[in-house]
Amino acid sequence: MNDKNSRLDIIIIGSGIGGLCAGALLARYGKKVLICESHSLPGGAAHSFSRDGFKFDSGPSFYCGLGSQKPSLNPLKQVLDLLGESLEVVPYDPLGHYHFPEFTLPIYSDLNAYRQAISQITPAGAMQLERFEKRLLSLYDCLKDIPTIALRSDWQVIPTLILKYGQSLIKFLPQLQVINASVGQIMDQYISDPWVRRLIDLECFLLSGLKAEGTIAPEVAFMLGERTRAGVEYPKGGSEAIVNALVRGLKRWGGELRVKSHVQKILVEKGKVSGIKLQNGEVIRANIVISNASIWDTYEKLLSPEDLPKAYLKKSLETPAIPSFMHLHLGIKADGLEGLTGHHVVVHDSQKDLTEPGNTCMISIPSVWDQTLAPNGHHLIHTYTLELWEGWEKNADYPEKKKQRAQSLYQALEKVIPDIRQRVVLELIGTPLTHAHYLRRYRGTYGPAISAEQGLFPHCYTPITGLYRVGDSTLPGIGVPAVAASAILCANTLVSAAQISELIN
Ligand SMILES: Cc1cc2nc3c(=O)[nH]c(=O)nc-3n(C[C@H](O)[C@H](O)[C@H](O)COP(=O)(O)OP(=O)(O)OC[C@H]3O[C@@H](n4cnc5c(N)ncnc54)[C@H](O)[C@@H]3O)c2cc1C
Repeated sequence: MNDKNSRLDIIIIGSGIGGLCAGALLARYGKKVLICESHSLPGGAAHSFSRDGFKFDSGPSFYCGLGSQKPSLNPLKQVLDLLGESLEVVPYDPLGHYHFPEFTLPIYSDLNAYRQAISQITPAGAMQLERFEKRLLSLYDCLKDIPTIALRSDWQVIPTLILKYGQSLIKFLPQLQVINASVGQIMDQYISDPWVRRLIDLECFLLSGLKAEGTIAPEVAFMLGERTRAGVEYPKGGSEAIVNALVRGLKRWGGELRVKSHVQKILVEKGKVSGIKLQNGEVIRANIVISNASIWDTYEKLLSPEDLPKAYLKKSLETPAIPSFMHLHLGIKADGLEGLTGHHVVVHDSQKDLTEPGNTCMISIPSVWDQTLAPNGHHLIHTYTLELWEGWEKNADYPEKKKQRAQSLYQALEKVIPDIRQRVVLELIGTPLTHAHYLRRYRGTYGPAISAEQGLFPHCYTPITGLYRVGDSTLPGIGVPAVAASAILCANTLVSAAQISELIN
């Protein structure tokens, strides 16, 4: 342990958006922070990678509220603002096209245009949808008054809420029922049209990995409100631009990031955290450790079973997981594809469940917004669909199985670019094993499958003094804005209310 390390206040395990936001914000508060990342690239699910002149996103590509518009309700943008970092973004609308077997629906950020497109298919359904949206938007109206950056995870949030946001709290009173409801419950009140119900299930699935009955109402209220208010946009330079901005912000405020630094163990002495041990044997000490690894990876791999109460450990490890993914990253020839749009969702079979592996395929073509991501005359594509972890192993059948399981992704792409197979100049197929390997995630999961009726995601505390968690296994859940919010809730809990006030004022 060298002198520099002995002065560390906080070690963060993992540089996903959750870990980076927590680390950078704590550095901004003046804490001495070190982030240890296992991979050679920061960003976790949001990292980008380059092959043959194409710069691919490994995960997210739907973003909202990251541009210059102020104030932004996106927690990630709130962190970037405090760090003094900004992003160049390309706004676009429609935000995507949903391709059902029967027809294709353009999805507009503007709710009137969205409803109008739906009324072409089902006028009665469009009217029902309007009432459903109104109900959720009244919740959004309350949520938007209280900025995430002012919140924390302990009791000290109460005086802040009462003194600063008392008026907004009063507005919440009529919303109490909806705050705890699932989208499914609200849908049942307002929507009988089977097609619109399916559309809402799809929107929920894209957001949380669960259908309407599993998704919490505030999540969709926020998505609808922000989509209309701020619009949808893509960061120039891809997801990497976001990761780079956070890393710059971290370093500007004195924090340090070490890549290729796999944490093997969290060190615990008498119920208190005392540091970490890296795979290379190096021990680094700090009294606070924040894990950005998933709940399963943190509790099963990084701690010893005796570090946690037995019942707590059992319950945590039993958290259900959303499946993993098949990924297809392609470089393609772009000639004749003028007018191509960037986001598509293809549902192959209306009779099958949306969540069935291979049935719902997400497509992102970011070079339509930022041509620098692909060589001249080319586009790049990332398409993915849910895939079960079970049954995947690197044996003799693996290469063939990989190709075969990527077929639903090619078939989805053919709906958008019919001659896609003739255009391919670079093909990379990823399986759940690839996902688990590069993202260092338990079973390559998208995240915990905690449905609305099971309650909220767990908060940042653990039973071990000094050990906290951030990221998509913690409150509020999965998605880039959510994990940035989890980082704020954790970081703010580790500083005084006065420090938060001083910074955000
Ligand atoms: C295919 C896909 C598409 C998505 N699309 C969107 C989208 O369009 N919009 C959106 O908002 N969200 C989207 N999401 C969700 C979003 O990307 C994630 O919820 C979010 O990025 C997760 O961030 P995180 O910080 O919680 O965890 P992660 O990104 O998983 O980061 C955890 C980090 O910890 C590191 N780590 C783990 N163990 C160790 C260890 N022992 N030592 C050191 N480091 C370790 C990992 O390497 C990783 O870098 C998508 C996700 C996927 C997979």
